[in-house]
Amino acid sequence: MEMISLIIPCYNEEEALPYLFAALKDVMSELSDYKFELLFVNDGSKDKTLDVLKNMAKEDERVFYLSFSRNFGKEAAMYAGFCNAKGDYVAVMDADMQDPPSLLKDMIKIIKEEGYDSVATRRFNRKGEPPIRSFFARTFYKIINKLSDAEIVDGARDFRLMKREMVDAIVAMSEYNRFSKGIFGWIGFKTKWLAYENVERVAGQTKWNFWQLTLYAVDGIVNFSQAPLYLASWSGIFLTFMSAVMILVIIIRKLIFGDPVQGWASTACIIIFVSGVQLFCIGIMGQYMSKMYLEVKNRPQYIIADTNRKKEDLNKLGSIK
Ligand code: UDP
Ligand code: MG
Repeated sequence: MEMISLIIPCYNEEEALPYLFAALKDVMSELSDYKFELLFVNDGSKDKTLDVLKNMAKEDERVFYLSFSRNFGKEAAMYAGFCNAKGDYVAVMDADMQDPPSLLKDMIKIIKEEGYDSVATRRFNRKGEPPIRSFFARTFYKIINKLSDAEIVDGARDFRLMKREMVDAIVAMSEYNRFSKGIFGWIGFKTKWLAYENVERVAGQTKWNFWQLTLYAVDGIVNFSQAPLYLASWSGIFLTFMSAVMILVIIIRKLIFGDPVQGWASTACIIIFVSGVQLFCIGIMGQYMSKMYLEVKNRPQYIIADTNRKKEDLNKLGSIK
């Protein structure tokens, strides 16, 4: 019998987990042709999430948990899940039911019958989201799709079901700075998109504030595009050209009109402008360098402190070796 693994990153989700578990049990009994494995990744929750997970594991032998030693972020949690999922098909799903578990039935059917490698989901709209957040999110997708060669779909969720081949490709991308929306696009494979109306979380709070989302967006751009680096070189070339023209103008003017002492204000403006551009470009280089620095250090992406998986079954990739 083929197996479906569901990876569920959880950070302070004690309130939402019971709802999710109930919904998943329904879905699993409807999809009785498949074996299931529920792989919960407790991302250093500060509430009782781990206890809830342990109780669930006692109740149902299909429940597994990997519990991190601290909060490593959703990206690390998903990667730990991918490394340790055993299924022939693997799906990532949020713990808050914003990714409707009932969609799994359609997703597996599409992969089976229509010959796709993965089924991904996106939202039609951003209903229930603050307008300012929607605005910045849309702008981000516009920019990154211009700059990057990986296709990154607006409104895409991390909720998707994939075949084993695709999961292996993701596991092989062991970079430290992870941006899954980009990684999914970069590895390719035939993907079908399902769209659905945005659902609000069942219980608990969102874990992202505006600042974190902004940093995440900058990360996405730096991880999946070199365009900002080109911007730095091009602005350098442009300014050099401009200054050559200006020098010519000044020389000619001096030859024709003599040299009245004038223009300290414009000189000051130019100096400030050019040093601004320089600092901006150094900042861009710094962004890439800091990424390289973290990449080179080759630190584990997550550390598992507690699990009900057998020790020998744990995939050490991305964790402490
Ligand atoms: N999450 C996580 N680690 C984090 C933040 C979030 O594992 O540091 C999980 C969280 O428990 C949830 C999913 O990632 O299952 C999505 O988080 P959330 O619902 O807060 O994000 P939103 O839906 O508001 O974008
Ligand atoms: Mg959510």
